[in-house]
Amino acid sequence: MAEARTEITMACSVCGNENYITTKNKKTVLGRFEEQKYCPHCRKKTLHKEKK
Ligand SMILES: [Zn+2]
Repeated sequence: MAEARTEITMACSVCGNENYITTKNKKTVLGRFEEQKYCPHCRKKTLHKEKK
């Protein structure tokens, strides 16, 4: 099975906590993944970024 999916870690851009693990398709998602998500450490929605 040659799945072109890769697992990525989403880290809070405020505190650096790694809160989410998701997958993305390299063929369809270009560039860095960024999303507003709830951070339990900050106790609010913050911008989460793909961690390399
Ligand atoms: Zn945070």
